[in-house]
Amino acid sequence: MQMIKTSARTLARRKAGRIGRKLREARMFARAMHSAHHPILAQVIPIRRCNLACTYCNEFDAHSPPVATDQMLRRIDRLAALGTTIITLSGGEPMLHPDLDELIRHIRRRGAIATLITNGYLVTPERIQRLNRAGLDYLQISIDNVLPDEVSKKSLKVLDRKLEWLAEHAEFEVTINSVLGSPVRHPEDALTIARRARELGFTSTVGVLHDHNGQLWALSEEHRRIFESVLALNKSLFSFAHYDRFQENITRGLPNEWHCRAGARFLYICEDGLVHYCSQQRGRPAIPLERYTREDFEREFHKTKSCAPYCTISCVLQTSMLDSFREKPRETLVQLLDRRKARDPGFEAPLLVRALHGMFIQSGNKARWSKLALRLLRADRPVGPGIPEA
Ligand code: SF4
Ligand code: SF4
Repeated sequence: MQMIKTSARTLARRKAGRIGRKLREARMFARAMHSAHHPILAQVIPIRRCNLACTYCNEFDAHSPPVATDQMLRRIDRLAALGTTIITLSGGEPMLHPDLDELIRHIRRRGAIATLITNGYLVTPERIQRLNRAGLDYLQISIDNVLPDEVSKKSLKVLDRKLEWLAEHAEFEVTINSVLGSPVRHPEDALTIARRARELGFTSTVGVLHDHNGQLWALSEEHRRIFESVLALNKSLFSFAHYDRFQENITRGLPNEWHCRAGARFLYICEDGLVHYCSQQRGRPAIPLERYTREDFEREFHKTKSCAPYCTISCVLQTSMLDSFREKPRETLVQLLDRRKARDPGFEAPLLVRALHGMFIQSGNKARWSKLALRLLRADRPVGPGIPEA
């Protein structure tokens, strides 16, 4: 294990970047609260090819070429014009795209938060500096085990040096996701991975592996115990969101009652430029992004998806939770806080949650606070022309 030596310059730039990012996130949140007529998060595939071949994965191949850069830039422009606030590049392995830096730079130029999901194999100090210069906001690496096995080579042993380089050089936020589910042979690895992530100053999350339809593989008692231990390591707002009843039901194999807003607030754009619900429901609605209209958006916003009760796609769950907060702020916040406090009586809610509590629960004047927040964050200006009519 190496000593992490982060330069004073990197530390200063990291701090400045964090402040700017928090402001942009607050603006994203204010916009999501103010209007239901734009996508919050889009996951875009710049390349389907991957340099690994995890046996549980159905999101990669071994041969596809990268999507042409000018096409990718047009897709980002289109998403920005629709008012999308977060754009995530994933794959396959997105770091195999030759113009990844330019794609990230373009996302930032168009005012969205830029996020990258990678297996981390291509991370080097020089590559991290390029991602810094491009303006990346978040990087997520998912690590499946401590030692590589025949299921997955996304292993702490292989990736640990890469994580140390990230701790030294990255000016963006890094999240390490560990997973639980039946294909994972040593569930306690998730805790080792999460502890190492925290030690290096990263955020740690834990996900539940889904089957090829995005549906739940129920966890054993041991898996559940580890799941809760990993969550308990993290006190941030992100983990706070994870503590809600969705995650609790997921680990118990119980259905959730929620409205999936995929195809509206969440869009999955495949390598062919088609809009799908999510990575596990490709083929629906499969409409080209450039022809996606308000009619499509509204239809999918209101549609009930039969796969929702046992869904484990946490990014869509979290995106949809923003709408439940927008529609019922008091009930949602009270429910979240009560659950969290029941598990951890000493829990101190993060600043943002305390502010929301004051605005929406104590004062009771949602409209006034929402308007004021929009003005303060300069989020009352349109981000794009919005979703066009058919
Ligand atoms: S690294 Fe990611 S995209 Fe590649 S095979 Fe594994 S899970 Fe799939
Ligand atoms: S409920 Fe939504 S996010 Fe989950 S699998 Fe179905 S379409 Fe995808």
